[in-house]
Order: sequence, then C-alpha cells, then structure tokens
Amino acid sequence: MAFSEVIRNPAYEQVAHQLREAILDGALAPGEELPAERELCAQFGVSRTTVREALRALQAQGLAVASGPTAPLRVPPAESLSTGPLRESLVHLMRLGRVPLADLVELRCALEAAAVAGAATRLHATDARAEASRHRAACLADAHREVEEMRAVGDDVAAFERADVRFHVALVAASGNEALQLVMLAVRDSVSAHLLDALRALPAPQRTLNRLTRQHEAILAAVEAGDGRDAELLLRDHVMGFYRSAERATAAAEPRAAARAGDPLASRPSDQRTSGSSPLGGTSA
Ligand SMILES: [Zn+2]
Repeated sequence: MAFSEVIRNPAYEQVAHQLREAILDGALAPGEELPAERELCAQFGVSRTTVREALRALQAQGLAVASGPTAPLRVPPAESLSTGPLRESLVHLMRLGRVPLADLVELRCALEAAAVAGAATRLHATDARAEASRHRAACLADAHREVEEMRAVGDDVAAFERADVRFHVALVAASGNEALQLVMLAVRDSVSAHLLDALRALPAPQRTLNRLTRQHEAILAAVEAGDGRDAELLLRDHVMGFYRSAERATAAAEPRAAARAGDPLASRPSDQRTSGSSPLGGTSA
C-alpha cells in the first residue's frame, strides 16, 4: 500500500487560496472591498504578517487592487479586466513561452475572423435582446469613428496604430463575445510593438496607411451588410497581408544587417520571436 506525502502549505498560501476562491466564485463581487486585515486575522486565526503576505500574493496575481498606497484592497472591477495586471500576465506568458510571432499572428487572425463573422451574422439575426443590438450598434459607430481618425492622422504612424487598435477592439466587441475580446486584447498587446516598428520602418508610409484604411472600411461594410463569410476573408487578408509583407521586408533587410553585425543567426527567420527586437517582425495593422 502506498501513501502520499503530506503537503504542508504555508499558512499564507492557505489564506490566499481561500480568498482567491471567494473572488473567482464571485462570493466577493467585482469592485467589492476585501475584509479588513484585523477581521481576516480573526477569521483565519493567523497573524497579521500572514494575512499581509496572502494579500500581497493576491495583488501580484491581479486579483486584489488598491487605488492608492493607503486605499483599501478591492476585487478588480469588471471593466479593469481589459487593462489590468491579468491582461499583462497573459502578455508575460506569451513572451516567457517564447511564442513565435507567426503563431501570435495566426491566433489573432483566428480570433478576429471568428469575431467579425459573429458580429456580421448576429447583426442581421432577429435579436430579442434590445440591449445586445444597442451594444453592437455602439461598437460599430466606434469603429466608424476610428476609420475617420485614420484618415485624419496623415502619415503619423503612431497615431494610426492607436486608431487601428481601437478599430479592431470595437469590431471584436461588436461580436458580443467577452471571452474573444479579453484574449484578443492580450494577443494584441503581445504584437503591437512589432506592428508599430514595422509601420515606422516604411520609407513612405502614406500609401500603406491608405491601403490599410480602405481594408478597414471594406471589413466594416461587410459586417454591416451581414456578410460574415466576406468579413472573415477580408479580415484574414488584412492581417496576414500586412504580416507577410513585413516579413518579406525583414528577409530582405536581415542578411544585410547580419553581414554588418557579423551575426550568423540574424538571418534565420525561426529566430524571430515575440521577445526579439527585429524591427519588421510586424503583424497586421
Ligand atoms: Zn487593422
């Protein structure tokens, strides 16, 4: 007969575990203040040091937040999930896992294609929930505003990139799928530096920016026409098209750069990783 070893978790981990479960189950609601330290000490029967250590662990995981150094800890409010440390954790995971840029672009393509197809078909389905159709209408109005913004920024690639992020976020939000939206934001964060670098490396960016803006308009028109299949194809062309042209530019530029730097690895495309500094490891716009 085999027995397994008894695992004695430190007290702070047991406290953190119980609080974490309460937060994730919703027993402690988003935005709700956590019980005071004194109360936690009494309830768990542990010292103040132990409680503090548990709270620090929760803060590090993004499951407890404070608005200032002396403010009480709260469960993160629902709206902060798209910007807070939990989103950063996903970005760190992608970088730490050395996820190749091509894989991230493929994931982004799959997520956004599903989102635009969903937004297009649901837009034209009879939806009993008036709130859902109002939400979609508001998201598509946001997307239109961002296309206007792209037209207004001229050849300012940084401003274009910001409008591009907001455009794609609005499109995914229009699908009404919150899971798609959260994961898409993290994927987007993981590739946005590459996108900006790729745009900055363009000798004459205006033509490319105009082309990307026309692609955005076409995607939006397909969604509004209720043509999910078309929206999906246009989105894939838009994302993959830019990525491939950035990759070709990298392939052309890298052997020259490698020869100058004497770096024998620099021309190997498989070394192009999300954590790398390759200026043209770009994604779509
Ligand atoms: Zn775009």
